[in-house]
Amino acid sequence: MAIERIAVLTSGGDSPGMNAAIRAVVRTGLARGLKVFGVRHGYQGLVNGEFIPMDSFMVSDMLQRGGTGLFTARSKEFMTEEGFRRALMMLESFKIDGLVVIGGDGSMRGALDLAKHGVAVAGLPGTIDNDLAYTDYTIGFDTAVNTAVNAIGNLRDTSSAHGMVTIVELMGRHCGDIALFAGIASGGDIIVMPETEYSLEDICREVVEGRNAGKLHCLILVAEGAPFSCQDIKEAVQERTGMESRITVLGHVQRGGSPTAFDRILASRLGAHGVDALIEGKKAVAVGIRNNEIFDMDMAKALEMKRPERTELIRLGEILK
Ligand code: ATP
Repeated sequence: MAIERIAVLTSGGDSPGMNAAIRAVVRTGLARGLKVFGVRHGYQGLVNGEFIPMDSFMVSDMLQRGGTGLFTARSKEFMTEEGFRRALMMLESFKIDGLVVIGGDGSMRGALDLAKHGVAVAGLPGTIDNDLAYTDYTIGFDTAVNTAVNAIGNLRDTSSAHGMVTIVELMGRHCGDIALFAGIASGGDIIVMPETEYSLEDICREVVEGRNAGKLHCLILVAEGAPFSCQDIKEAVQERTGMESRITVLGHVQRGGSPTAFDRILASRLGAHGVDALIEGKKAVAVGIRNNEIFDMDMAKALEMKRPERTELIRLGEILK
């Protein structure tokens, strides 16, 4: 049976490019003759029935904006039996034939639960963390890396001026991709992430070697999921080398801002593909990009995949430091 009504929501942490994805879903849906609803506040909005009919004008002037015009949430209620039932009931009462979920790993797991209860879902990877294994890139990652690169550039200036060790914490939860990509793009001296096996001693040795080689600055980039905190590193550097250091936590600065052209195009392609997948009758797919091709695959299989090792990039970072 042909689908007639779809809905779209954003869930979990916001990421730059989510608006471009919403816009693509709405305009592709309308172009294919569907009725399109936006659900505000992610799964919490699903539970509460916050459905709004979308027209083309409602998504104008949002392509370039960070955040999400549909708002987002982390919903505990959706994960309770009663909340989940209400979400299903709302989808039924608004006669939704297909749902596009834009979010990270947790949001995809929520979408999979809905699919197991008969809702056709297409998941788009929306998170700055780049921690979804099935796709090369997630929406917002490129913007977050660029934001980090700009900030690290500023910190490098002051680090050189004072001859000081600069320790920067980057986001990414258990995934070190933001630190790794930003580190390579900004010439970071030491990149500490969950996937590398640096000890505090190694870090201190590299700090001293850099100084002995005549480097004025020393940039240590630390992924938030790394085995040591920035404070651990600061204390070790002070104690073992006698050098002073400063910690900067970039934090949510990395989540905001206007999306890069890469993220806008990625989000637009993923959004359009998600709608087409639902029209084709697919029931539970994760949409992603691999080797610059947009594709979809079984959502359960996508969530089981292991992230590729970053051996080449880690080695590159170590050579080019
Ligand atoms: P980000 O990577 O930016 O944090 P995310 O989508 O992983 O995004 P979460 O907070 O993990 O963010 O998940 C968003 C929402 O999805 C949760 O608030 C919850 O409602 C739902 N959710 C998370 N994990 C699950 C799960 N295992 N099963 C069902 N629903 C889930």
